[in-house]
Amino acid sequence: MKIETLAVHAGHAIDPATGAVSTPIHLSTTFERDIEGTYSRGFMYTRNNNPNRQALEQGVSALEGGAAAAAFGSGTGATMAIFQALAPGDHVLAHIDAYYGTSRLLREIFLRWGLEADFIDMSNLAEVKKALRPKTKLAWIETPSNPLLKVVDLAAVARIVHEAGALCVCDNTWAPVLQRPFDLDADLIVHSTTKYFGGHCDVAGGIVIAKIDNEFFQRIRSIQYSGGAVPSPFDCWLILRGMRTLPWRMRAHCENAAKVADFLAQHRQVERVHYPGLPSHPGHEIAQKQMSMYGGMLSFEAKGGRDAAMNVAAKTKIFIRATSLGGVESLIEHRASIEGPGTTSPEGLLRLSIGLENADDLIEDLDQALG
Ligand SMILES: *Cc1c(COP(=O)(O)O)cnc(C)c1O
Repeated sequence: MKIETLAVHAGHAIDPATGAVSTPIHLSTTFERDIEGTYSRGFMYTRNNNPNRQALEQGVSALEGGAAAAAFGSGTGATMAIFQALAPGDHVLAHIDAYYGTSRLLREIFLRWGLEADFIDMSNLAEVKKALRPKTKLAWIETPSNPLLKVVDLAAVARIVHEAGALCVCDNTWAPVLQRPFDLDADLIVHSTTKYFGGHCDVAGGIVIAKIDNEFFQRIRSIQYSGGAVPSPFDCWLILRGMRTLPWRMRAHCENAAKVADFLAQHRQVERVHYPGLPSHPGHEIAQKQMSMYGGMLSFEAKGGRDAAMNVAAKTKIFIRATSLGGVESLIEHRASIEGPGTTSPEGLLRLSIGLENADDLIEDLDQALG
Protein backbone atom coordinates (compact mmCIF):
# COMPACT_ATOMS: atom_id res chain seq x y z
CA MET A 1 0.00 0.00 0.00
CA LYS A 2 1.06 3.57 -0.68
CA ILE A 3 1.62 5.85 2.28
CA GLU A 4 -1.64 7.87 1.96
CA THR A 5 -3.64 4.63 2.07
CA LEU A 6 -1.63 3.29 5.00
CA ALA A 7 -2.15 6.55 6.89
CA VAL A 8 -5.93 6.26 6.52
CA HIS A 9 -6.25 2.54 7.29
CA ALA A 10 -3.34 1.40 9.46
CA GLY A 11 -4.39 0.86 13.08
CA HIS A 12 -8.07 1.03 12.11
CA ALA A 13 -10.63 -1.77 12.00
CA ILE A 14 -14.40 -1.78 12.11
CA ASP A 15 -15.45 -2.29 15.74
CA PRO A 16 -16.76 -5.88 15.85
CA ALA A 17 -19.20 -5.14 18.69
CA THR A 18 -21.00 -2.16 17.10
CA GLY A 19 -19.85 -1.74 13.51
CA ALA A 20 -18.48 1.70 14.39
CA VAL A 21 -16.28 3.02 11.57
CA SER A 22 -14.43 5.44 13.85
CA THR A 23 -12.52 3.52 16.53
CA PRO A 24 -14.23 3.75 19.94
CA ILE A 25 -12.24 5.24 22.83
CA HIS A 26 -11.73 2.71 25.61
CA LEU A 27 -11.44 4.61 28.87
CA SER A 28 -11.59 1.50 31.06
CA THR A 29 -8.49 1.14 33.21
CA THR A 30 -9.08 -2.53 33.88
CA PHE A 31 -10.23 -5.50 31.82
CA GLU A 32 -12.17 -8.65 32.71
CA ARG A 33 -10.33 -11.86 33.42
CA ASP A 34 -11.58 -15.16 31.97
CA ILE A 35 -13.12 -17.79 34.25
CA GLU A 36 -9.89 -19.80 34.07
CA GLY A 37 -7.94 -16.70 35.15
CA THR A 38 -6.39 -15.84 31.79
CA TYR A 39 -6.80 -12.69 29.65
CA SER A 40 -7.79 -14.16 26.30
CA ARG A 41 -8.83 -10.74 24.95
CA GLY A 42 -5.29 -9.46 25.41
CA PHE A 43 -5.81 -6.60 27.87
CA MET A 44 -5.41 -6.57 31.64
CA TYR A 45 -4.64 -3.08 32.95
CA THR A 46 -4.42 0.16 30.99
CA ARG A 47 -0.81 1.05 31.90
CA ASN A 48 0.33 -2.28 30.46
CA ASN A 49 -1.74 -1.92 27.31
CA ASN A 50 -5.12 -0.75 26.08
CA PRO A 51 -6.93 -0.96 22.74
CA ASN A 52 -6.31 2.66 21.71
CA ARG A 53 -2.61 2.56 22.49
CA GLN A 54 -2.25 -0.73 20.66
CA ALA A 55 -4.05 0.71 17.62
CA LEU A 56 -1.79 3.78 17.64
CA GLU A 57 1.36 1.67 17.96
CA GLN A 58 0.32 -0.64 15.15
CA GLY A 59 -0.68 2.29 12.94
CA VAL A 60 2.51 4.33 13.36
CA SER A 61 4.67 1.24 13.09
CA ALA A 62 3.01 0.32 9.78
CA LEU A 63 3.41 3.87 8.48
CA GLU A 64 7.15 3.91 9.22
CA GLY A 65 7.64 0.34 8.01
CA GLY A 66 8.73 -0.93 11.43
CA ALA A 67 8.11 -4.16 13.33
CA ALA A 68 6.79 -2.70 16.60
CA ALA A 69 6.26 0.57 18.45
CA ALA A 70 5.88 1.85 22.00
CA ALA A 71 3.87 5.03 22.68
CA PHE A 72 4.61 7.48 25.50
CA GLY A 73 3.03 10.56 27.05
CA SER A 74 5.44 12.89 25.20
CA GLY A 75 8.31 12.85 22.74
CA THR A 76 10.65 13.37 25.66
CA GLY A 77 9.16 10.34 27.42
CA ALA A 78 9.94 8.27 24.32
CA THR A 79 13.50 9.63 24.18
CA MET A 80 13.94 8.96 27.90
CA ALA A 81 12.94 5.29 27.46
CA ILE A 82 15.63 4.74 24.81
CA PHE A 83 18.37 6.12 27.05
CA GLN A 84 17.00 4.15 30.01
CA ALA A 85 17.33 0.97 27.96
CA LEU A 86 21.11 1.53 27.88
CA ALA A 87 23.37 0.60 30.80
CA PRO A 88 25.70 2.66 33.00
CA GLY A 89 29.06 3.04 31.27
CA ASP A 90 27.53 3.01 27.78
CA HIS A 91 28.53 5.87 25.51
CA VAL A 92 26.07 7.88 23.40
CA LEU A 93 26.96 9.99 20.42
CA ALA A 94 24.46 12.79 19.81
CA HIS A 95 24.10 15.46 17.17
CA ILE A 96 25.25 18.85 18.48
CA ASP A 97 22.17 20.44 16.92
CA ALA A 98 19.69 17.93 18.42
CA TYR A 99 16.49 19.16 20.06
CA TYR A 100 17.71 21.02 23.17
CA GLY A 101 15.44 18.92 25.42
CA THR A 102 17.24 15.79 24.22
CA SER A 103 20.69 17.22 24.97
CA ARG A 104 19.39 18.44 28.31
CA LEU A 105 18.15 14.93 29.19
CA LEU A 106 21.58 13.49 28.50
CA ARG A 107 23.47 16.26 30.29
CA GLU A 108 21.28 16.81 33.32
CA ILE A 109 19.83 13.35 33.99
CA PHE A 110 21.69 10.53 32.31
CA LEU A 111 25.27 11.64 32.98
CA ARG A 112 24.44 11.34 36.69
CA TRP A 113 23.22 7.78 36.07
CA GLY A 114 26.44 6.76 34.40
CA LEU A 115 25.81 7.23 30.69
CA GLU A 116 28.55 8.99 28.79
CA ALA A 117 27.75 11.33 25.93
CA ASP A 118 29.52 13.39 23.29
CA PHE A 119 27.83 16.02 21.17
CA ILE A 120 29.22 16.34 17.68
CA ASP A 121 28.33 17.74 14.29
CA MET A 122 27.04 14.64 12.51
CA SER A 123 26.97 16.38 9.16
CA ASN A 124 30.76 15.91 9.37
CA LEU A 125 31.39 12.16 8.85
CA ALA A 126 35.06 12.39 9.84
CA GLU A 127 33.96 13.78 13.20
CA VAL A 128 31.54 10.87 13.67
CA LYS A 129 34.33 8.34 13.03
CA LYS A 130 36.68 10.12 15.41
CA ALA A 131 34.13 10.31 18.24
CA LEU A 132 33.26 6.59 18.28
CA ARG A 133 34.57 4.65 21.26
CA PRO A 134 34.57 0.92 22.08
CA LYS A 135 31.73 1.66 24.53
CA THR A 136 29.61 3.59 22.02
CA LYS A 137 26.23 1.86 22.01
CA LEU A 138 24.01 4.39 20.32
CA ALA A 139 24.10 7.34 17.94
CA TRP A 140 21.30 9.91 18.09
CA ILE A 141 20.59 11.60 14.77
CA GLU A 142 18.13 14.37 14.18
CA THR A 143 17.64 15.68 10.67
CA PRO A 144 16.72 18.32 9.62
CA SER A 145 17.89 19.76 12.91
CA ASN A 146 16.54 22.40 15.18
CA PRO A 147 16.75 25.36 14.70
CA LEU A 148 19.40 25.56 11.96
CA LEU A 149 17.90 22.88 9.66
CA LYS A 150 21.25 21.13 9.34
CA VAL A 151 21.01 17.96 7.31
CA VAL A 152 22.71 14.74 8.37
CA ASP A 153 23.37 11.97 5.84
CA LEU A 154 21.39 9.23 7.56
CA ALA A 155 22.62 6.28 5.52
CA ALA A 156 26.27 7.34 5.78
CA VAL A 157 26.16 7.84 9.55
CA ALA A 158 24.25 4.57 10.04
CA ARG A 159 26.95 2.70 8.11
CA ILE A 160 29.76 4.14 10.26
CA VAL A 161 27.85 3.56 13.49
CA HIS A 162 26.93 -0.02 12.59
CA GLU A 163 30.54 -0.84 11.76
CA ALA A 164 31.31 0.14 15.35
CA GLY A 165 28.56 -2.19 16.59
CA ALA A 166 26.27 0.60 17.83
CA LEU A 167 22.59 1.37 17.26
CA CYS A 168 21.38 4.23 15.13
CA VAL A 169 18.35 6.26 16.28
CA CYS A 170 16.67 8.89 14.14
CA ASP A 171 14.45 11.57 15.64
CA ASN A 172 12.11 11.96 12.66
CA THR A 173 9.76 14.48 14.29
CA TRP A 174 10.41 17.16 11.67
CA ALA A 175 10.00 15.00 8.60
CA PRO A 176 7.34 12.31 9.00
CA VAL A 177 6.36 10.73 5.66
CA LEU A 178 9.03 12.83 3.88
CA GLN A 179 11.94 10.83 5.20
CA ARG A 180 12.04 7.03 5.66
CA PRO A 181 14.79 6.33 8.23
CA PHE A 182 14.38 2.53 8.15
CA ASP A 183 15.12 2.54 4.40
CA LEU A 184 18.28 4.49 5.28
CA ASP A 185 19.32 1.87 7.88
CA ALA A 186 18.24 3.47 11.15
CA ASP A 187 17.41 0.90 13.86
CA LEU A 188 14.94 3.01 15.84
CA ILE A 189 12.78 6.01 14.99
CA VAL A 190 11.43 8.51 17.51
CA HIS A 191 8.61 10.95 16.96
CA SER A 192 7.29 13.67 19.15
CA THR A 193 3.71 13.03 18.02
CA THR A 194 2.85 16.33 19.71
CA LYS A 195 3.96 17.88 16.42
CA TYR A 196 2.93 16.72 12.92
CA PHE A 197 1.19 13.48 13.90
CA GLY A 198 -1.25 15.21 16.25
CA GLY A 199 -1.12 18.11 13.84
CA HIS A 200 -3.46 20.50 15.64
CA CYS A 201 -1.52 21.59 18.77
CA ASP A 202 -4.03 19.86 21.03
CA VAL A 203 -2.34 16.65 22.19
CA ALA A 204 1.10 15.65 23.52
CA GLY A 205 2.69 12.31 22.77
CA GLY A 206 5.76 10.43 21.67
CA ILE A 207 6.57 7.08 20.12
CA VAL A 208 9.54 4.78 19.55
CA ILE A 209 9.37 2.54 16.48
CA ALA A 210 11.71 -0.41 16.06
CA LYS A 211 12.83 -1.83 12.74
CA ILE A 212 13.26 -5.22 14.42
CA ASP A 213 11.41 -6.35 17.54
CA ASN A 214 14.58 -7.44 19.34
CA GLU A 215 15.82 -7.60 22.91
CA PHE A 216 16.69 -3.88 22.99
CA PHE A 217 13.16 -2.96 21.93
CA GLN A 218 11.70 -5.34 24.52
CA ARG A 219 13.64 -3.40 27.16
CA ILE A 220 11.97 -0.20 25.90
CA ARG A 221 8.60 -1.98 26.02
CA SER A 222 9.11 -2.98 29.63
CA ILE A 223 10.23 0.56 30.54
CA GLN A 224 6.98 1.74 28.96
CA TYR A 225 4.66 -0.35 31.09
CA SER A 226 6.68 -0.64 34.27
CA GLY A 227 7.96 2.97 34.04
CA GLY A 228 4.46 4.23 33.40
CA ALA A 229 5.04 7.33 31.20
CA VAL A 230 2.13 6.22 29.03
CA PRO A 231 -0.38 8.27 27.01
CA SER A 232 -4.10 8.26 27.80
CA PRO A 233 -6.49 6.35 25.50
CA PHE A 234 -7.99 9.65 24.32
CA ASP A 235 -4.54 11.06 23.47
CA CYS A 236 -3.76 7.89 21.50
CA TRP A 237 -7.05 8.24 19.65
CA LEU A 238 -6.32 11.89 18.76
CA ILE A 239 -2.83 11.09 17.49
CA LEU A 240 -4.06 8.20 15.36
CA ARG A 241 -6.77 10.45 13.98
CA GLY A 242 -4.11 13.02 13.13
CA MET A 243 -2.12 10.39 11.26
CA ARG A 244 -4.96 9.80 8.81
CA THR A 245 -4.40 13.19 7.14
CA LEU A 246 -0.64 13.33 7.77
CA PRO A 247 0.68 12.69 4.24
CA TRP A 248 -1.62 15.35 2.75
CA ARG A 249 -0.91 17.85 5.49
CA MET A 250 2.86 17.32 5.08
CA ARG A 251 2.56 18.03 1.38
CA ALA A 252 0.78 21.32 2.05
CA HIS A 253 3.17 22.31 4.87
CA CYS A 254 6.09 21.71 2.47
CA GLU A 255 4.57 23.64 -0.43
CA ASN A 256 3.83 26.63 1.81
CA ALA A 257 7.27 26.52 3.44
CA ALA A 258 9.03 26.47 0.06
CA LYS A 259 7.15 29.61 -1.00
CA VAL A 260 7.89 31.41 2.27
CA ALA A 261 11.59 30.41 2.05
CA ASP A 262 11.84 31.80 -1.48
CA PHE A 263 10.26 35.06 -0.38
CA LEU A 264 12.52 35.45 2.66
CA ALA A 265 15.66 34.57 0.68
CA GLN A 266 15.04 37.66 -1.48
CA HIS A 267 14.08 40.08 1.29
CA ARG A 268 16.50 42.94 1.99
CA GLN A 269 15.95 42.78 5.78
CA VAL A 270 16.88 39.11 5.91
CA GLU A 271 20.47 38.07 6.50
CA ARG A 272 20.14 34.31 5.93
CA VAL A 273 17.43 31.68 5.43
CA HIS A 274 17.84 28.12 6.69
CA TYR A 275 15.69 25.80 4.59
CA PRO A 276 17.00 22.57 3.05
CA GLY A 277 14.86 23.13 -0.04
CA LEU A 278 16.93 26.16 -1.07
CA PRO A 279 19.75 25.20 -3.47
CA SER A 280 22.04 27.52 -1.46
CA HIS A 281 21.51 25.46 1.74
CA PRO A 282 24.65 23.45 2.64
CA GLY A 283 22.57 20.29 3.16
CA HIS A 284 20.47 20.65 0.02
CA GLU A 285 22.06 17.80 -1.93
CA ILE A 286 21.75 15.28 0.88
CA ALA A 287 18.21 16.43 1.60
CA GLN A 288 17.39 15.89 -2.06
CA LYS A 289 18.72 12.34 -1.75
CA GLN A 290 16.95 11.34 1.46
CA MET A 291 13.77 13.45 1.62
CA SER A 292 10.83 13.48 -0.79
CA MET A 293 10.03 17.11 0.10
CA TYR A 294 11.88 19.57 2.34
CA GLY A 295 9.57 19.99 5.31
CA GLY A 296 7.38 22.65 6.86
CA MET A 297 10.02 24.14 9.18
CA LEU A 298 12.44 26.92 8.40
CA SER A 299 14.37 29.61 10.21
CA PHE A 300 15.86 32.92 9.18
CA GLU A 301 18.15 35.53 10.61
CA ALA A 302 16.93 39.11 10.58
CA LYS A 303 19.39 41.90 9.76
CA GLY A 304 20.03 43.76 13.01
CA GLY A 305 20.26 40.81 15.42
CA ARG A 306 18.13 40.20 18.47
CA ASP A 307 16.23 43.51 18.54
CA ALA A 308 15.32 43.28 14.88
CA ALA A 309 14.17 39.67 15.31
CA MET A 310 12.06 40.48 18.38
CA ASN A 311 10.56 43.40 16.48
CA VAL A 312 9.49 41.17 13.57
CA ALA A 313 7.94 38.63 15.96
CA ALA A 314 6.09 41.46 17.72
CA LYS A 315 4.51 42.66 14.49
CA THR A 316 3.17 39.49 12.86
CA LYS A 317 -0.61 39.23 12.74
CA ILE A 318 -1.16 35.73 11.36
CA PHE A 319 1.98 34.01 12.69
CA ILE A 320 1.41 33.32 16.38
CA ARG A 321 4.28 33.89 18.82
CA ALA A 322 4.51 30.45 20.39
CA THR A 323 6.82 27.49 20.68
CA SER A 324 6.26 24.03 19.17
CA LEU A 325 5.48 23.12 15.57
CA GLY A 326 3.51 20.94 13.23
CA GLY A 327 0.05 22.41 13.77
CA VAL A 328 -2.34 23.92 11.24
CA GLU A 329 -1.55 27.45 12.43
CA SER A 330 1.78 29.10 11.60
CA LEU A 331 4.04 29.89 14.55
CA ILE A 332 7.00 32.23 14.95
CA GLU A 333 9.57 31.87 17.66
CA HIS A 334 12.76 33.49 18.90
CA ARG A 335 14.70 30.32 19.81
CA ALA A 336 17.65 31.89 21.66
CA SER A 337 15.41 33.36 24.35
CA ILE A 338 13.32 30.21 24.79
CA GLU A 339 16.39 27.96 25.06
CA GLY A 340 18.16 30.35 27.44
CA PRO A 341 21.84 30.24 28.48
CA GLY A 342 23.95 27.81 26.48
CA THR A 343 21.78 28.13 23.38
CA THR A 344 23.41 27.54 20.02
CA SER A 345 20.73 29.66 18.31
CA PRO A 346 21.92 32.91 16.73
CA GLU A 347 20.34 35.94 18.47
CA GLY A 348 18.79 37.24 15.27
CA LEU A 349 17.18 33.90 14.41
CA LEU A 350 13.44 33.35 14.15
CA ARG A 351 12.04 29.87 13.65
CA LEU A 352 8.87 29.42 11.65
CA SER A 353 6.50 26.50 11.74
CA ILE A 354 4.61 26.94 8.51
CA GLY A 355 0.96 26.03 8.86
CA LEU A 356 -1.85 25.37 6.44
CA GLU A 357 -2.98 28.93 5.78
CA ASN A 358 -2.67 30.30 2.25
CA ALA A 359 1.03 30.99 1.53
CA ASP A 360 0.20 34.42 0.05
CA ASP A 361 -1.27 35.54 3.38
CA LEU A 362 1.77 34.24 5.27
CA ILE A 363 4.14 36.06 2.93
CA GLU A 364 2.15 39.31 3.19
CA ASP A 365 2.24 39.01 6.99
CA LEU A 366 6.02 38.54 7.09
CA ASP A 367 6.49 41.35 4.56
CA GLN A 368 4.62 43.87 6.72
CA ALA A 369 6.37 42.65 9.88
CA LEU A 370 9.83 42.96 8.28
CA GLY A 371 8.90 46.52 7.21
C1 LIG B 1 9.26 18.68 20.35
C2 LIG B 1 10.38 17.79 20.01
C3 LIG B 1 10.79 16.78 20.91
C4 LIG B 1 10.17 16.60 22.27
O1 LIG B 1 8.85 16.23 22.22
P1 LIG B 1 7.77 16.56 23.38
O2 LIG B 1 6.54 15.93 22.87
O3 LIG B 1 7.71 18.06 23.49
O4 LIG B 1 8.28 15.96 24.64
C5 LIG B 1 11.81 15.95 20.50
N1 LIG B 1 12.42 16.10 19.31
C6 LIG B 1 12.06 17.06 18.44
C7 LIG B 1 12.76 17.17 17.13
C8 LIG B 1 11.03 17.94 18.75
O5 LIG B 1 10.69 18.91 17.89
